[in-house]
Amino acid sequence: MTEKEHRSGFVSIVGRPNVGKSTLLNRLLGRKVAIVSDRPQTTRHRILGVLTLPGAQVIFLDTPGIHKPRHQLGEYMVKVALRTLREVDLTLFLAEAHTPFGAGDGFILERIKEARTPAILCINKTDLVPKSSLLPLIDDLRSKHGFLAIVPVSALTGENTDRLVEEVVAHLPPGPRYYPPETVTDQPEQFVVAELIREKVLQLTREEVPHGVAVVAEEVTPRSGELLYIRAVIYTERESHKGILVGQGGQMLKKIGQLAREEIEALFGSRVYLDLWVKVKPNWRREEALLRRFGYRTE
Ligand code: GDP
Ligand code: MG
Repeated sequence: MTEKEHRSGFVSIVGRPNVGKSTLLNRLLGRKVAIVSDRPQTTRHRILGVLTLPGAQVIFLDTPGIHKPRHQLGEYMVKVALRTLREVDLTLFLAEAHTPFGAGDGFILERIKEARTPAILCINKTDLVPKSSLLPLIDDLRSKHGFLAIVPVSALTGENTDRLVEEVVAHLPPGPRYYPPETVTDQPEQFVVAELIREKVLQLTREEVPHGVAVVAEEVTPRSGELLYIRAVIYTERESHKGILVGQGGQMLKKIGQLAREEIEALFGSRVYLDLWVKVKPNWRREEALLRRFGYRTE
């Protein structure tokens, strides 16, 4: 393959909260780089995932869902997602097969039109609808914008995701490999660890806690005997949330730690000692300085 034929580029994955952006990214990469949950607004940062193929390299940017912000963290999240639209070669706009294209989707589509970035529409969650409903849906959505392609997929089962990758690659410009082929993400180890812990918090706790939670992995150090020592702190906004996160006799914290540890061990291929703490920091979501400390850069 000559340098000329090699294709590469940056592709943002955008869509309403919860449409399956992170699930799709993990599926396309064959590895977990973004955490997933059934709660909206799980992804807070822009996560970069690199897919290296024989003739192409696709750099995906998973973005926080675009929604109406209610606090400073929310504002930061939407800003990140919107800015991303203007920085990429291609936008992958995700909608859902089982919910009608609504005002939230329309708002994002308007931003895509404004940014004038070429877009592929991906209709996710096809596993939830009968096949016969897809063609009329695609016809309807075709009229909304000059999409380069419309591809129905299931990020959950992987159905038709090969075709999606083909379409993405076909619409990338010729270009070099920006990253070494073994690179899968640009997220530092400490961030991946913190995010995995946050995912377990989301899985195991109820509605009111998760949005007020930030996780910081303060130390990740290899120790003798192939052991990885990790000290991490789960920050919450309220004393009552701390109570929930610690649980009766420390049961909840133990469970969070156990599930996170198993997954971190699988990811890094080494044994892990996870030293997990819960601390209260009121209003961290509204304070610039604290947001920065937790890794949400707002510049
Ligand atoms: P994001 O907010 O757009 O990043 O969405 P997530 O990737 O976190 O997924 C939100 C929820 O949708 C999770 O519960 C996923 O398991 C679920 N989900 C994602 N893709 C699919 C799919 O193709 N089919 C089904 N049935 N569920 C999906
Ligand atoms: Mg996400």
